[in-house]
Amino acid sequence: VHYARIAAEDGAINSYLALSRERALAQAEKIDQMVAKGEPLPVLAGVPVGIKDVLTMQGAPATAGSLILKGYRPPYDATAVKRLEAAGAVLLGKLNCDEFAMGSSNENSAYGSVKNPRALDRVPGGSSGGSAAAVAADFAVATLGTDTGGSIRQPAAFCGVVGVLPTYGRVSRYGLIAFASSLDRVGPFAKNVRDAAALLQVLAGHDEMDATSSDRPVADYAAELQKPVEGLRVGVPEEYFGEGLDPEIRAAIEGVLAGLKAAGCVIKPVSLPHTKYAVPTYYVIATAEASSNLSRFDGVRYGLRDAEAKTLAAMFRKTRDAGFGAEVKRRILLGTYALSAGYYDAYYRKAQQVRALLTKDFLAAFHDVDVLVAPVTPTPAFKLGEKTDDPVKMYLEDIYSVAASLAGICGISVPCGETKVGLPIGVQVMGRHFDEATMLRVAQAVE
Ligand code: GLN
Repeated sequence: VHYARIAAEDGAINSYLALSRERALAQAEKIDQMVAKGEPLPVLAGVPVGIKDVLTMQGAPATAGSLILKGYRPPYDATAVKRLEAAGAVLLGKLNCDEFAMGSSNENSAYGSVKNPRALDRVPGGSSGGSAAAVAADFAVATLGTDTGGSIRQPAAFCGVVGVLPTYGRVSRYGLIAFASSLDRVGPFAKNVRDAAALLQVLAGHDEMDATSSDRPVADYAAELQKPVEGLRVGVPEEYFGEGLDPEIRAAIEGVLAGLKAAGCVIKPVSLPHTKYAVPTYYVIATAEASSNLSRFDGVRYGLRDAEAKTLAAMFRKTRDAGFGAEVKRRILLGTYALSAGYYDAYYRKAQQVRALLTKDFLAAFHDVDVLVAPVTPTPAFKLGEKTDDPVKMYLEDIYSVAASLAGICGISVPCGETKVGLPIGVQVMGRHFDEATMLRVAQAVE
C-alpha cells in the first residue's frame, strides 16, 4: 500500500531518495509466515518505516543528501535501523534530507528540495524534511530522523506530525553519518505520541558500538503514558515568547497551557537567561565539529572521486569542490576558522563555556518544574526559496530548538493546531536528561 502511494504521489513531494523493496518484501514475508504459524509477533511487526539518508542500511545507498556520497553503499546497518527491523518493522527506503543534515528547510539537498505535503509551495523544514513529509503524506507509518539543532522537532512542527529528540546518549548513533558528534541524535517521527513512544522503546538503550550511548535503564513508556499529568509542574520559559514569535503560534501555545492547567498541571513562569546566546553558540560548535567530521570525505574512502586530477592533493581538492554543496563548504570554512590557532580561544572555547551556562539554565529550571513548554519555531512553514539567500535568516529559524540540543536534554514536537491558512503549528515539550517518560506524558496530554 505504501509503495503504491509513494509511486503515485511522491513525485510531487520528493521525500524518498531510494526504495529498499527487496528487503521490505523479505521482512513482510517473514512476518506473514509468523502470522500463519501463529507465532507471537514482535511489537513493530509489519509497521512500514522510512529511514533518513544519513543512517546506514546495509547495501542501500547512503548519500546524506550529498553528491560526495553518490554511489556509496555501506556494508552495515545503523544500530537504530537494525533495532527497528528486529522489532518487526518493514524498512521501506531512504529519505531525503539537507546535505549532511545541515539546514532548516531541506533546500540544501543535492537531490532537490522536499515539498511540504500540507502546502506544496512551502518547505517541510529540515534537515529531516523527507522524514517528516513521508509521515505527513502517509508514505510511512513512522520514520527515523536526526536532530543536531532542531532537525527532528522543526520539520515535525512544519508538517504537522510528532517528532522526538531523545536525550543525548539515549539512542545509539552507530551508523549515523556524523555532522556534529556532541549534538547529533537519532529519533522517531510518527503520527501520534503513542506510536512515537513505541518506536523510542525499541530504539533506546545502550549499544556497545557507540561509546556515548548510555546504559541507564529504559523506562516502560507505554506504561508511563497511562499515568495522569495532574500535579506535574510545567515551566514556561519567558525567553521563548519574545518578539519575532508569530502571533498565531503564541495563541496556540497559550491554548496548550490552558489545557494543561485544566488537566491539573501547575503552570510556572521560568527564566533561561542565556537563551539569546544559543544560536551563535550552536553555529560555532556545530560547524567546528562538522569541519573535523567531514574531513573523511576525501575521494579515497567513499563515493565520488575526481578521475582527472594528476596529483593526490588535486584529487582531494577537485572531489571536495564538486562533491560538497555551498552550505557544507560554508560550514567547513567557518568551523576550521573557529578551531584554528589564535581563534580557538575566542570562538570555540568561548562557545563551550556558553554551552555550559545554557545547560545550567536548564538544570536550574528543572529544579522547579518537571517539563518546559515552548514554541518549536518562530513561524509556520515558510515558502520554498524564501530564506535561501540569507544564511543568517535561515539560522535564526533554529532559535527555539538549539538550546535543548546544546544542553543534551530531551524534547518533542507535537501538533497543536493550525494557522488561519491551514499550516500546522507545533508545540515543544522539553524534559530532563533521560526523563523521556514525563515529557511523553505531557506531550500526550496536549495532543
Ligand atoms: N538547522 C540546523 C542546522 O542547519 C539544525 C540541523 C540539524 O539539526 N541537523 O545546523
